[in-house]
Amino acid sequence: MAVITSVETYDVRFPTSRDLDGSDAMNPDPDYSAAYLVLKTDDGPDGHGFTFTIGRGNDVCQAAIDALVPYLVGLDPDTVDLGAFARSLTHDSQLRWLGPEKGVMHLATAAVINAMWDLVAKRAGKPVWRYLADLSPEQIVDLVDWRYLSDALTPDEALEMLRAAEPGRADRIARLTEWGYPGYTTSPGWLGYPDDKVIQLSKQAVADGFTQIKLKVGADAADDVRRLKVAREAVGPHIRIAVDANQRWDVAEAVERMRELAPYDPWWIEEPTSPDDVLAHAAIRAALATSAPDGGPIRVATGEHVANRVVFKQLLQAGAVDVVQIDACRVGGVNENVAILLLAMKYGVPVCPHAGGVGLCELVQHLSMFDFVAVSGSMRNRVIEYVDHLHEHFVDPVVIRDGHYVTPTAPGFSAEMRPESLATYAYPDGPAWA
Ligand SMILES: [Mg+2]
Repeated sequence: MAVITSVETYDVRFPTSRDLDGSDAMNPDPDYSAAYLVLKTDDGPDGHGFTFTIGRGNDVCQAAIDALVPYLVGLDPDTVDLGAFARSLTHDSQLRWLGPEKGVMHLATAAVINAMWDLVAKRAGKPVWRYLADLSPEQIVDLVDWRYLSDALTPDEALEMLRAAEPGRADRIARLTEWGYPGYTTSPGWLGYPDDKVIQLSKQAVADGFTQIKLKVGADAADDVRRLKVAREAVGPHIRIAVDANQRWDVAEAVERMRELAPYDPWWIEEPTSPDDVLAHAAIRAALATSAPDGGPIRVATGEHVANRVVFKQLLQAGAVDVVQIDACRVGGVNENVAILLLAMKYGVPVCPHAGGVGLCELVQHLSMFDFVAVSGSMRNRVIEYVDHLHEHFVDPVVIRDGHYVTPTAPGFSAEMRPESLATYAYPDGPAWA
């Protein structure tokens, strides 16, 4: 028995734009930031959670988190129904007007739900991936808001898939603990980096054990061709190179630009166009279905800016994506990501999470590991994005070994930032900004 007595919120920003880390075609000068909260309890550990932004507007997210505080104070984390709790936030009739289930309010909802999962898992003494993987199929189904999903997936179908995966869970937990989960790295490919840095970091990624890297594209066409060519020469033919346009193109331009890159065998094109445009993704995917050097497809990936489970549902129904990229902090936290993992399983599409930013690697590893143990049962063609930035600010940072995420063992969601980092990077008055 414990009670959430208060909620602290923080506006934390890192001045990453000074080194062009994280630069891409749409976001040339990001200051990686977190709208962060702490659920204080009267007994035992606190719950930490956040959503990720790239600077201006982080205060707007913080205000949206403040609007959800009345749902938190007084709850007992030992008895809270996590499905009903998540639905209580997204069903608030007045706050719902601001979305519904999209935009700033939904980012704030993610932060709050993730903080609750951190708290509940800490109290249970388990990392979140393991807490989820120990739930029964019925309990997992109860986490999901099933409204708007039944034309694609019903709770009964989800139960059937989860029950089918149940006998293999113990074996997969053992394998996961031994191997970890494969990652890929975006560190070589930021748009602001010169060619020699791309080459050096691409070679370093392969030496570090990664079998996939990613380059940013979408600004100058000739630059994209040259950068992909030098990266391909640096890593050889057997390393997968994904490219990411960060929503820069219309349909015809996306197809044309990808055909120019095709000789260098891009594995997927990520966010070729607007994340809301299901039909555009379907058109691009169809146009690139035989464009790879071997006559196969250049895959289409998206998801880091997809607002909610309803849009993911449509992307899958329309055959618009080859790769689903969940984000731990954009949709409504753990609960809505469980829904998206189940939808992807139903349609047989692999989930390769978006990460990087501040703490996104720390969080999303738990969701992929849960997926492997209890939902898809597979790591085939599945990789978690990895970017080597800002991990030092976390109490339980990710560990990468031979290109794999090492399975976290500390209780909670790996979401807790060091107190000195919260103080130093507080915006606008912390010493990093003063
Ligand atoms: Mg991306």
